[in-house]
Amino acid sequence: MTDKYAVIGNPVAHSKSPYIHAEFARQSGQDISYVALLAPRDGMRATMLAFRDAGGRGMNVTLPFKHEAWTSSTIRMGDADAAGAVNTLLFRGDDIIGHNTDGIGLLRDIRDNLGCTVGGRRVLLMGAGGASYGVMAPLLREKPECIIVANRTLDRAQALVAHFSQEAAAMACILAASSYAALAGQQFDIVINATSAGLTHEMPPLHDECFAAGALAYDMVYGTTPFLAFAQARGARAVDGTGMLVEQAAESFFIWRGVRPATRPVIALLKQRM
Ligand code: NAP
Repeated sequence: MTDKYAVIGNPVAHSKSPYIHAEFARQSGQDISYVALLAPRDGMRATMLAFRDAGGRGMNVTLPFKHEAWTSSTIRMGDADAAGAVNTLLFRGDDIIGHNTDGIGLLRDIRDNLGCTVGGRRVLLMGAGGASYGVMAPLLREKPECIIVANRTLDRAQALVAHFSQEAAAMACILAASSYAALAGQQFDIVINATSAGLTHEMPPLHDECFAAGALAYDMVYGTTPFLAFAQARGARAVDGTGMLVEQAAESFFIWRGVRPATRPVIALLKQRM
């Protein structure tokens, strides 16, 4: 019998997850179906339970439901609690098991696919929303020299830094919040754009000299963005979030199926389609 999976969100029609999981299933010979499921803004839980009760085995969760998926999980695994958000649900009996695979996805892309070391490096993380919370724990585990969190609304960056201060201390990593203006004069080896600015063809107000020699500029948004163009013009290696998307999906697939799909061919296919 075909096992049923879905991605739940609002909006969700744009999601590339059905394509990615269909590729994983084809490649690994797994008999699954995977659909995009639109839930009303106030109806995530009811939609999720209806899918489960109709035989669904698991779900990915996208905006704006990742926090609600976290509160709906009866068991939380891995980085879910640190992130306060869940993007992967596994249904087992009455249990709803919540994981957050976004951070692992980002790290696998940066470290394994792009060959970029995080340990001992200076990292600038722009944005203090759900995506930043999701990636912070895996980034800290790599023991960077520092992570500076810059955000348009400074108190949200300060709240994020306070949330992860103990983990940062345990990793001997300097973790600090900053406004964009206060970054002037500082250079970073890895600059991660975890804001949604690229979706509206904007970018945070970064200073010109923010990239150290050989720096990686990573935008979690897919495709060309003003931040990536800015980085490229200043000699940085500019990479969009397609690899992170595929890697977080691969981790979900592993949680559900116990099989690790090959991600690089799927990243290449997706980049071709975009
Ligand atoms: P979110 O919770 O809505 O947070 C958005 C963040 O962007 C906030 O920090 C916000 O600053 C900042 N921001 C928005 N517009 C800005 C602008 N014009 N200039 C400067 N800062 C701006 O969103 P999220 O869940 O963190 O997601 C962020 C992005 O990551 C989204 O585009 C999402 O699609 C992407 N993402 C990609 C993947 C992947 O697999 N590639 C996974 C997860 C997320 P304020 O606090 O000041 O409002």
